[in-house]
Amino acid sequence: MQTSVVGPSASMGLPASDQRFRELLESLPRVAVQGYDSQRRVIYWNEASERLYGFSEQEARGRCLEALLIPDEMADIVVDAHHAWVNHGTQIPASELELKHKSGAPVPVFSHHVMLGERSDNPLMFCIDIDLAGERKVQRELDYMTRFDPLTELPNRQTFETELENMLGECQRHGDTLMVLFLDIDHFTEINDTQGYEMGDLVIRSVASRLQGFQRSQDLLSRFGGDEFVMAMPRLDYESDALSVVERIREDFQRPFQIEGRELLLRLSIGVSLYPENGNDAPELVRNADVAKHRAKQAGRDGYQFFNQEVRDAMLHQHHLAGRLQTLLSEDGGGELFLHFQPQVAARSERIESVEALMRWHAPEGPIPPTDFIKVAERTNLIERLGDWVIRQACRQQAEWHAMGIKGYRIDINISGRQAINSDVFQRLEACVAEYGLTPRDIGIELTENVLIDADVKVRDSLRALHDRGYKIAIDDFGTGYSSMSYLKMLPVTALKIDRSFVIECAQEPKDRAIMEATVFLGHRLGLEVVAEGVENIQQLELLREMRCDLIQGYYFYKPMAAADIQRLLSGGNNPPHPGAHRPSSDPTSASNGCH
Ligand code: C2E
Ligand code: CA
Ligand code: CA
Repeated sequence: MQTSVVGPSASMGLPASDQRFRELLESLPRVAVQGYDSQRRVIYWNEASERLYGFSEQEARGRCLEALLIPDEMADIVVDAHHAWVNHGTQIPASELELKHKSGAPVPVFSHHVMLGERSDNPLMFCIDIDLAGERKVQRELDYMTRFDPLTELPNRQTFETELENMLGECQRHGDTLMVLFLDIDHFTEINDTQGYEMGDLVIRSVASRLQGFQRSQDLLSRFGGDEFVMAMPRLDYESDALSVVERIREDFQRPFQIEGRELLLRLSIGVSLYPENGNDAPELVRNADVAKHRAKQAGRDGYQFFNQEVRDAMLHQHHLAGRLQTLLSEDGGGELFLHFQPQVAARSERIESVEALMRWHAPEGPIPPTDFIKVAERTNLIERLGDWVIRQACRQQAEWHAMGIKGYRIDINISGRQAINSDVFQRLEACVAEYGLTPRDIGIELTENVLIDADVKVRDSLRALHDRGYKIAIDDFGTGYSSMSYLKMLPVTALKIDRSFVIECAQEPKDRAIMEATVFLGHRLGLEVVAEGVENIQQLELLREMRCDLIQGYYFYKPMAAADIQRLLSGGNNPPHPGAHRPSSDPTSASNGCH
């Protein structure tokens, strides 16, 4: 072996002490040593190098370091560092590196470098590499052991809580809900006692894998220890809301388990807590789901409980409403969903400038306020379809008015937070506007401040594009959100709508008045239009006129009206109303009109 190797001593005629050193290097099984000439061609390659990198000594000899072991992205750096050492004496420090095996696989090493004959015309570089794969593996295993349950390979409690915390951050940003399920196996101790721990382990594993069947890609499942499992499910929608998930799990457990040739019937007790109703952080939600699970156990095994009954009732109601909404949407409103329109008039001339589209649900049992069903739609992922229906309905209405010769009245659509989470809604809006042969002047949008501020880059870019194409974009309910004034200059908006809560008492409340005045001033300085909503009486109107607010919306002039009524009004020449004259006696379905 040694005779076939042109080692450092052979090539350089090194003294006996170096010869012994070379023998030492040869004999170390885990220390890979390679020697390179001034062109970085292999002149020495010990057996450990062959084991570590896969090239035999014959294969390696004469080939360049960078062609053999160095990953592409590191090649230039290595060549430069070698030059710097040879030409300027700048040493390459020892370091942890990831080099390349013959097969292309990464090889983690700790690499030392020595230059022999540095000042001669044939400087030789020796690399002494220690294989770190073993250490890395141990590290990975340790890491795995601290994060996962070895029996089920599910995340353990700590991992679950950390990941749930991250998930809750996301939910908070996007206004999503989340459900935590605390599940434990009924009579598990009896199984352990009567059939032994090995059977117990098998049961735990089978239950884990059955629960995994309910896990969507975004869900978290963890073994908390013993016979306890906890699951977190964000963004539940109508198909998989809290109730139906729990029901499906229980139904599935009606089916016996086959374990070691035995048939076993296992039942779960389940506790449910919901974000945000039952807690804001991971420990609180888990604790409350646990409390609910204990109650489920007390009430008799094989049961489930929500952390509180009202939440459960609300869920049931929500589930019911969502189901009906879904049906109505598939029937283009089903004769129960409508848009009403409320004019916005110029403060001075009282001429109608535009109308806001407001949704109405005329359910057989009576009107359901938009604030209620929109919340349900948001929580059940129906908002996208509902929002698209509103967009289409508004465009259709506008096109119809155009055909009748009613022109110049923009329809403003409300876009809710959940709806604006991805930018597609704006693309669909533009497509719909084009489809009905309309222009950006015909349809406007209203968004709340928080939506604008929380929006991600894509959403903001889409809004900016809409803005640049001439769409009117208003900040709705202005003054009730984050109200960070400095944001205003960055947002692609054209108007501010002062929230009704400031208008209500402005005649009596100097503070509300001050805020309104400041908003009008600020809006105008930023080149924005200012609208006041919820104007109900002449005192409010006069104050707003004094402040030079541009547009007025409110019962003082008009309530939201059905399409036919507004059509009559707009085709009648749009004369300024005598206060009160055009107010239809009632808009029985408006939420803010006494149906709460
Ligand atoms: P909003 O966008 O702030 O709409 C203004 C609300 O104030 C409307 O309530 C309107 O009827 C009411 N209002 C207007 N003038 C007066 C007034 O002088 N006095 C009083 N007391 N109320 C007035 P509505 O129609 O019940 O809608 C409530 C909320 O539901 C809306 O608030 C909006 O956030 C949401 N909404 C309604 N339609 C839609 C829709 O198509 N899409 C979305 N995403 N949200 C909608
Ligand atoms: Ca609005
Ligand atoms: Ca508003």
